[in-house]
Amino acid sequence: MLIDGCGRRIDYLRLSVTDRCDLRCAYCMPPEFDSYEIPDNWLSFSEIVRICRIFIDLGVSRVRLTGGEPLVRSRIGDLVQDVGQLPGLNDLSLSTNGTRLTQFASKLLASGVTRLNVSLDTLSPVRFLTLTRRDALHDVLAGLEVARESGFRLIKINMVWLPEFNGDELDAMIKYCMERNFVLRLIENMPMGDSARQLGSSSLQPLIGQLRERFHLVDHIVAGGGPARYLGTPDRSFSVGFITPMSQHFCEACNRVRVSVTGRLHLCLGQNDHLELLPMLRGGSPDHEIANQIRAAVMQKPLSHEFQKNPMKVVRIMASTGG
Ligand code: SAM
Ligand code: SF4
Repeated sequence: MLIDGCGRRIDYLRLSVTDRCDLRCAYCMPPEFDSYEIPDNWLSFSEIVRICRIFIDLGVSRVRLTGGEPLVRSRIGDLVQDVGQLPGLNDLSLSTNGTRLTQFASKLLASGVTRLNVSLDTLSPVRFLTLTRRDALHDVLAGLEVARESGFRLIKINMVWLPEFNGDELDAMIKYCMERNFVLRLIENMPMGDSARQLGSSSLQPLIGQLRERFHLVDHIVAGGGPARYLGTPDRSFSVGFITPMSQHFCEACNRVRVSVTGRLHLCLGQNDHLELLPMLRGGSPDHEIANQIRAAVMQKPLSHEFQKNPMKVVRIMASTGG
Protein backbone atom coordinates (compact mmCIF):
# COMPACT_ATOMS: atom_id res chain seq x y z
CA MET A 1 0.00 0.00 0.00
CA LEU A 2 1.12 3.52 -0.77
CA ILE A 3 0.48 5.68 2.29
CA ASP A 4 1.51 9.30 2.70
CA GLY A 5 2.85 11.07 5.73
CA CYS A 6 -0.69 12.11 6.76
CA GLY A 7 -1.96 8.53 6.64
CA ARG A 8 -3.84 8.96 3.37
CA ARG A 9 -3.90 5.95 1.08
CA ILE A 10 -2.79 6.81 -2.46
CA ASP A 11 -4.46 4.43 -4.90
CA TYR A 12 -5.06 6.70 -7.89
CA LEU A 13 -2.57 7.87 -10.53
CA ARG A 14 -3.31 10.55 -13.10
CA LEU A 15 -0.79 10.35 -15.86
CA SER A 16 -0.32 12.98 -18.55
CA VAL A 17 0.58 11.55 -21.96
CA THR A 18 1.19 14.96 -23.54
CA ASP A 19 1.25 18.63 -22.58
CA ARG A 20 -0.02 19.61 -26.05
CA CYS A 21 -3.57 20.46 -26.87
CA ASP A 22 -5.71 21.35 -29.86
CA LEU A 23 -7.74 23.83 -27.77
CA ARG A 24 -6.77 26.85 -25.69
CA CYS A 25 -9.31 26.95 -22.85
CA ALA A 26 -8.88 30.36 -21.26
CA TYR A 27 -8.69 28.93 -17.72
CA CYS A 28 -6.03 26.42 -18.71
CA MET A 29 -3.62 27.63 -21.41
CA PRO A 30 -2.64 31.19 -22.25
CA PRO A 31 -3.42 31.93 -25.92
CA GLU A 32 0.21 32.51 -26.79
CA PHE A 33 1.46 29.47 -24.87
CA ASP A 34 4.25 27.63 -26.68
CA SER A 35 6.54 26.47 -23.87
CA TYR A 36 5.92 22.84 -24.67
CA GLU A 37 8.20 20.09 -23.53
CA ILE A 38 10.50 18.82 -26.28
CA PRO A 39 9.77 15.31 -27.58
CA ASP A 40 13.11 13.97 -26.29
CA ASN A 41 11.82 14.61 -22.79
CA TRP A 42 8.44 12.97 -23.27
CA LEU A 43 7.96 9.67 -21.55
CA SER A 44 7.97 6.93 -24.18
CA PHE A 45 5.11 4.45 -24.24
CA SER A 46 7.28 1.80 -22.62
CA GLU A 47 8.29 4.27 -19.89
CA ILE A 48 4.65 5.14 -19.27
CA VAL A 49 3.71 1.47 -19.01
CA ARG A 50 6.64 0.88 -16.69
CA ILE A 51 5.60 3.75 -14.42
CA CYS A 52 2.05 2.43 -14.30
CA ARG A 53 3.32 -1.04 -13.46
CA ILE A 54 5.50 0.27 -10.63
CA PHE A 55 2.59 2.26 -9.20
CA ILE A 56 0.27 -0.75 -9.47
CA ASP A 57 2.83 -2.87 -7.62
CA LEU A 58 2.86 -0.15 -4.95
CA GLY A 59 -0.92 -0.44 -4.51
CA VAL A 60 -2.42 1.91 -7.07
CA SER A 61 -5.49 0.32 -8.65
CA ARG A 62 -6.83 3.19 -10.74
CA VAL A 63 -5.17 5.11 -13.55
CA ARG A 64 -6.50 8.07 -15.50
CA LEU A 65 -4.78 9.11 -18.71
CA THR A 66 -4.90 12.84 -19.26
CA GLY A 67 -2.95 15.79 -20.65
CA GLY A 68 -2.92 18.31 -22.35
CA GLU A 69 -5.21 16.54 -24.70
CA PRO A 70 -4.35 12.83 -24.57
CA LEU A 71 -5.96 12.04 -27.91
CA VAL A 72 -3.51 14.27 -29.82
CA ARG A 73 -0.54 12.06 -28.94
CA SER A 74 0.21 9.89 -31.93
CA ARG A 75 -0.54 6.17 -31.57
CA ILE A 76 -2.42 6.89 -28.35
CA GLY A 77 -4.64 3.89 -29.06
CA ASP A 78 -1.63 1.57 -28.75
CA LEU A 79 -0.64 3.08 -25.42
CA VAL A 80 -4.14 2.78 -23.99
CA GLN A 81 -4.22 -0.84 -25.05
CA ASP A 82 -0.89 -1.57 -23.33
CA VAL A 83 -1.91 0.18 -20.09
CA GLY A 84 -5.32 -1.50 -20.18
CA GLN A 85 -3.67 -4.92 -20.15
CA LEU A 86 -1.69 -4.35 -16.96
CA PRO A 87 -2.57 -6.92 -14.30
CA GLY A 88 -3.83 -5.36 -11.07
CA LEU A 89 -5.34 -2.32 -12.75
CA ASN A 90 -9.02 -2.19 -11.75
CA ASP A 91 -10.05 1.05 -13.35
CA LEU A 92 -8.73 2.80 -16.45
CA SER A 93 -10.26 6.16 -17.33
CA LEU A 94 -9.43 9.06 -19.61
CA SER A 95 -9.97 12.82 -19.61
CA THR A 96 -10.47 14.47 -22.97
CA ASN A 97 -11.77 17.61 -24.57
CA GLY A 98 -13.73 15.38 -26.94
CA THR A 99 -12.58 16.88 -30.25
CA ARG A 100 -11.27 13.49 -31.43
CA LEU A 101 -13.71 11.17 -29.71
CA THR A 102 -15.53 10.25 -32.91
CA GLN A 103 -12.31 8.69 -34.10
CA PHE A 104 -11.18 7.12 -30.81
CA ALA A 105 -14.23 6.19 -28.71
CA SER A 106 -14.59 2.57 -29.76
CA LYS A 107 -10.83 1.90 -29.62
CA LEU A 108 -10.69 3.34 -26.10
CA LEU A 109 -13.57 1.18 -24.98
CA ALA A 110 -12.08 -1.93 -26.57
CA SER A 111 -8.78 -1.20 -24.75
CA GLY A 112 -10.40 -1.20 -21.35
CA VAL A 113 -11.31 2.45 -20.73
CA THR A 114 -14.67 2.29 -19.01
CA ARG A 115 -15.07 5.88 -17.83
CA LEU A 116 -14.61 9.11 -19.74
CA ASN A 117 -14.45 12.68 -18.46
CA VAL A 118 -15.16 15.18 -21.21
CA SER A 119 -14.67 18.95 -20.86
CA LEU A 120 -17.67 20.93 -22.04
CA ASP A 121 -18.15 24.43 -20.66
CA THR A 122 -20.77 25.72 -23.07
CA LEU A 123 -23.31 24.52 -25.62
CA SER A 124 -23.00 27.70 -27.67
CA PRO A 125 -20.70 27.45 -30.72
CA VAL A 126 -19.82 31.14 -30.46
CA ARG A 127 -18.92 30.92 -26.79
CA PHE A 128 -17.01 27.69 -27.41
CA LEU A 129 -14.88 29.53 -29.97
CA THR A 130 -14.35 32.43 -27.58
CA LEU A 131 -13.34 30.21 -24.67
CA THR A 132 -11.23 27.62 -26.49
CA ARG A 133 -10.14 29.61 -29.55
CA ARG A 134 -11.33 26.84 -31.86
CA ASP A 135 -14.59 26.36 -33.64
CA ALA A 136 -14.93 22.75 -32.55
CA LEU A 137 -18.14 22.42 -30.52
CA HIS A 138 -19.72 20.37 -33.29
CA ASP A 139 -16.85 17.84 -33.16
CA VAL A 140 -17.12 17.55 -29.38
CA LEU A 141 -20.89 16.99 -29.42
CA ALA A 142 -20.55 14.47 -32.25
CA GLY A 143 -17.80 12.70 -30.30
CA LEU A 144 -19.97 12.55 -27.21
CA GLU A 145 -22.79 10.94 -29.20
CA VAL A 146 -20.40 8.31 -30.55
CA ALA A 147 -19.04 7.66 -27.06
CA ARG A 148 -22.55 7.32 -25.65
CA GLU A 149 -23.56 4.85 -28.33
CA SER A 150 -20.33 2.89 -27.84
CA GLY A 151 -21.41 1.93 -24.33
CA PHE A 152 -19.03 3.53 -21.82
CA ARG A 153 -20.06 2.72 -18.26
CA LEU A 154 -19.90 6.34 -17.20
CA ILE A 155 -19.43 9.64 -19.04
CA LYS A 156 -18.89 12.74 -16.96
CA ILE A 157 -19.13 16.24 -18.38
CA ASN A 158 -16.71 18.68 -16.76
CA MET A 159 -17.95 22.28 -16.78
CA VAL A 160 -15.68 24.90 -15.23
CA TRP A 161 -18.00 27.29 -13.43
CA LEU A 162 -17.47 30.81 -14.77
CA PRO A 163 -20.86 32.41 -13.96
CA GLU A 164 -20.32 35.51 -16.07
CA PHE A 165 -19.50 33.36 -19.05
CA ASN A 166 -21.58 30.19 -18.76
CA GLY A 167 -23.79 30.72 -15.69
CA ASP A 168 -26.89 31.22 -17.82
CA GLU A 169 -26.32 27.85 -19.49
CA LEU A 170 -26.69 25.73 -16.38
CA ASP A 171 -30.27 24.65 -17.09
CA ALA A 172 -29.42 23.82 -20.70
CA MET A 173 -26.43 21.81 -19.58
CA ILE A 174 -28.49 19.91 -16.99
CA LYS A 175 -31.07 19.10 -19.66
CA TYR A 176 -28.36 18.03 -22.12
CA CYS A 177 -26.81 15.67 -19.54
CA MET A 178 -30.13 14.34 -18.22
CA GLU A 179 -31.27 13.38 -21.72
CA ARG A 180 -28.05 11.47 -22.38
CA ASN A 181 -27.43 9.91 -19.01
CA PHE A 182 -24.24 11.92 -18.54
CA VAL A 183 -23.09 12.98 -15.08
CA LEU A 184 -22.57 16.75 -14.94
CA ARG A 185 -19.69 18.09 -12.84
CA LEU A 186 -19.29 21.73 -11.99
CA ILE A 187 -15.74 22.78 -11.16
CA GLU A 188 -14.43 25.87 -9.40
CA ASN A 189 -11.65 27.55 -11.37
CA MET A 190 -8.28 27.02 -9.69
CA PRO A 191 -5.51 29.65 -9.79
CA MET A 192 -3.03 27.62 -11.82
CA GLY A 193 -1.01 29.95 -14.02
CA ASP A 194 -1.78 33.55 -14.89
CA SER A 195 -4.61 32.97 -17.35
CA ALA A 196 -6.60 30.95 -14.81
CA ARG A 197 -5.91 33.54 -12.11
CA GLN A 198 -7.15 36.37 -14.31
CA LEU A 199 -10.56 34.71 -14.59
CA GLY A 200 -11.08 34.56 -10.84
CA SER A 201 -13.11 31.86 -9.12
CA SER A 202 -16.72 31.71 -7.99
CA SER A 203 -17.90 29.55 -5.14
CA LEU A 204 -20.29 26.76 -6.05
CA GLN A 205 -21.69 26.61 -2.52
CA PRO A 206 -24.82 28.76 -3.13
CA LEU A 207 -25.63 26.67 -6.20
CA ILE A 208 -25.55 23.39 -4.30
CA GLY A 209 -28.51 24.38 -2.15
CA GLN A 210 -30.37 26.00 -5.04
CA LEU A 211 -30.11 22.94 -7.28
CA ARG A 212 -31.05 20.62 -4.42
CA GLU A 213 -34.28 22.54 -3.92
CA ARG A 214 -35.19 23.22 -7.54
CA PHE A 215 -34.74 19.65 -8.75
CA HIS A 216 -35.53 17.87 -5.43
CA LEU A 217 -32.09 16.30 -5.42
CA VAL A 218 -30.70 13.94 -2.81
CA ASP A 219 -27.11 12.95 -1.95
CA HIS A 220 -25.57 10.53 -4.44
CA ILE A 221 -22.42 8.45 -4.61
CA VAL A 222 -20.91 8.21 -8.09
CA ALA A 223 -18.02 5.95 -9.15
CA GLY A 224 -14.65 7.61 -9.56
CA GLY A 225 -13.25 8.14 -6.11
CA GLY A 226 -12.59 11.81 -6.77
CA PRO A 227 -13.18 14.88 -4.65
CA ALA A 228 -16.63 15.70 -6.05
CA ARG A 229 -19.70 15.86 -3.86
CA TYR A 230 -22.74 14.57 -5.77
CA LEU A 231 -26.45 15.26 -5.72
CA GLY A 232 -29.00 13.57 -7.93
CA THR A 233 -32.58 12.62 -8.60
CA PRO A 234 -34.08 10.00 -6.23
CA ASP A 235 -34.56 7.59 -9.16
CA ARG A 236 -30.81 7.97 -9.91
CA SER A 237 -31.48 8.99 -13.51
CA PHE A 238 -29.35 12.13 -13.11
CA SER A 239 -26.39 13.18 -10.96
CA VAL A 240 -24.54 16.45 -10.64
CA GLY A 241 -21.16 16.75 -8.95
CA PHE A 242 -19.50 19.78 -7.38
CA ILE A 243 -15.72 20.06 -7.31
CA THR A 244 -15.00 22.83 -4.86
CA PRO A 245 -11.25 23.14 -4.31
CA MET A 246 -11.64 26.84 -3.53
CA SER A 247 -14.73 27.03 -1.32
CA GLN A 248 -14.47 23.66 0.41
CA HIS A 249 -11.48 21.50 -0.28
CA PHE A 250 -11.32 17.78 0.32
CA CYS A 251 -7.56 17.54 0.78
CA GLU A 252 -7.87 15.39 3.89
CA ALA A 253 -9.35 12.66 1.68
CA CYS A 254 -6.92 13.10 -1.23
CA ASN A 255 -6.02 9.75 -2.76
CA ARG A 256 -4.03 10.72 -5.84
CA VAL A 257 -0.74 11.80 -7.34
CA ARG A 258 0.06 12.98 -10.84
CA VAL A 259 2.83 12.27 -13.33
CA SER A 260 3.55 14.77 -16.11
CA VAL A 261 4.58 13.86 -19.65
CA THR A 262 8.22 14.43 -18.64
CA GLY A 263 7.93 12.02 -15.75
CA ARG A 264 7.63 14.61 -13.02
CA LEU A 265 5.70 13.16 -10.10
CA HIS A 266 3.54 15.97 -8.70
CA LEU A 267 2.48 15.25 -5.15
CA CYS A 268 -0.25 17.91 -5.02
CA LEU A 269 -2.03 19.90 -7.72
CA GLY A 270 -1.68 23.08 -5.73
CA GLN A 271 1.91 22.73 -4.53
CA ASN A 272 5.30 22.55 -6.20
CA ASP A 273 6.68 19.46 -4.43
CA HIS A 274 7.77 16.88 -6.96
CA LEU A 275 10.09 14.01 -7.83
CA GLU A 276 11.74 13.58 -11.26
CA LEU A 277 11.28 10.02 -12.49
CA LEU A 278 12.88 10.44 -15.92
CA PRO A 279 16.53 10.43 -14.76
CA MET A 280 15.89 7.20 -12.89
CA LEU A 281 14.01 5.60 -15.79
CA ARG A 282 16.76 6.50 -18.23
CA GLY A 283 19.65 6.07 -15.82
CA GLY A 284 19.27 2.35 -15.31
CA SER A 285 17.53 2.35 -11.92
CA PRO A 286 15.76 -0.93 -11.24
CA ASP A 287 12.02 -0.94 -10.48
CA HIS A 288 12.49 -1.51 -6.74
CA GLU A 289 14.75 1.54 -6.46
CA ILE A 290 12.24 3.75 -8.32
CA ALA A 291 9.47 2.33 -6.14
CA ASN A 292 11.43 3.24 -3.01
CA GLN A 293 11.94 6.81 -4.25
CA ILE A 294 8.22 7.11 -5.02
CA ARG A 295 7.33 5.77 -1.58
CA ALA A 296 9.66 8.30 0.06
CA ALA A 297 8.27 11.17 -2.05
CA VAL A 298 4.68 10.22 -1.27
CA MET A 299 5.52 10.38 2.45
CA GLN A 300 6.20 14.09 1.81
CA LYS A 301 2.88 14.74 0.05
CA PRO A 302 1.64 18.12 1.32
CA LEU A 303 -1.37 18.15 3.60
CA SER A 304 -3.28 20.53 1.34
CA HIS A 305 -3.08 23.03 -1.47
CA GLU A 306 -2.83 26.76 -0.73
CA PHE A 307 -4.99 28.10 -3.55
CA GLN A 308 -6.76 30.48 -1.16
CA LYS A 309 -3.88 31.40 1.12
CA ASN A 310 -1.24 31.69 -1.58
CA PRO A 311 -2.89 31.92 -5.02
CA MET A 312 0.33 32.98 -6.78
CA LYS A 313 2.20 29.87 -5.71
CA VAL A 314 1.59 27.59 -8.69
CA VAL A 315 2.90 29.02 -11.94
CA ARG A 316 2.60 25.87 -14.02
CA ILE A 317 -0.62 25.50 -15.96
CA MET A 318 -3.05 22.61 -15.67
CA ALA A 319 -2.20 21.27 -19.15
CA SER A 320 1.47 20.83 -18.13
CA THR A 321 0.61 19.22 -14.83
CA GLY A 322 -1.86 16.63 -16.07
CA GLY A 323 -5.28 17.75 -14.88
N1 SAM B 1 -7.72 18.10 -22.30
C1 SAM B 1 -8.47 17.27 -21.44
C2 SAM B 1 -9.73 17.96 -20.98
O1 SAM B 1 -9.88 19.14 -21.26
O2 SAM B 1 -10.53 17.29 -20.32
C3 SAM B 1 -7.69 16.76 -20.25
C4 SAM B 1 -6.77 17.71 -19.55
S1 SAM B 1 -7.59 19.07 -18.77
C5 SAM B 1 -6.21 19.93 -18.10
C6 SAM B 1 -8.39 18.27 -17.39
C7 SAM B 1 -9.43 19.07 -16.69
O3 SAM B 1 -8.82 20.16 -16.05
C8 SAM B 1 -10.53 19.63 -17.57
O4 SAM B 1 -11.78 19.18 -17.12
C9 SAM B 1 -10.42 21.12 -17.37
O5 SAM B 1 -11.67 21.74 -17.38
C10 SAM B 1 -9.74 21.20 -16.02
N2 SAM B 1 -9.05 22.47 -15.78
C11 SAM B 1 -8.06 23.04 -16.51
N3 SAM B 1 -7.66 24.19 -15.95
C12 SAM B 1 -8.40 24.36 -14.83
C13 SAM B 1 -8.44 25.35 -13.80
N4 SAM B 1 -7.66 26.41 -13.82
N5 SAM B 1 -9.33 25.17 -12.79
C14 SAM B 1 -10.14 24.09 -12.75
N6 SAM B 1 -10.14 23.12 -13.67
C15 SAM B 1 -9.28 23.25 -14.71
FE1 SF4 C 1 -6.68 21.67 -23.59
FE2 SF4 C 1 -8.01 20.40 -21.67
FE3 SF4 C 1 -6.51 22.56 -21.12
FE4 SF4 C 1 -8.73 22.86 -22.51
S1 SF4 C 1 -8.59 22.13 -20.39
S2 SF4 C 1 -6.73 23.77 -23.00
S3 SF4 C 1 -8.81 21.04 -23.65
S4 SF4 C 1 -5.77 20.62 -21.82
